[in-house]
Amino acid sequence: MPPEDEPMPLEETPAEPAPVAAASTPPTPLPDARLYVPNQEGWEAKIKLDTEKVYCYAKLPGEEYFHLILNGEIFLQGEIEKYCLRCALRIGVATQDRLFWQNRVGKRRPPAV
Ligand SMILES: [Zn+2]
Repeated sequence: MPPEDEPMPLEETPAEPAPVAAASTPPTPLPDARLYVPNQEGWEAKIKLDTEKVYCYAKLPGEEYFHLILNGEIFLQGEIEKYCLRCALRIGVATQDRLFWQNRVGKRRPPAV
């Protein structure tokens, strides 16, 4: 903590303190965007880059149409189906659980406490 007897002249300090203060109070932390595909066989991660229209094979809840995968969007390609990452997460093709390999269904491990 700086001593109180030397008050900082606010007008003479350049714009520097503002970014420093902003950096010291981090905004919302970046989400961990890593995704994992527990059953990798037959799946590839791709980036949509051509002009062909590609639709996600899953519908979002409440939507009556298959939504478009945009150019530059990362999606998962299965043997026939393609899913945007959001739907892949929702239907369980992908997971954000880094420990998915410990939590595989079928292997009944006692929970590590
Ligand atoms: Zn989707």
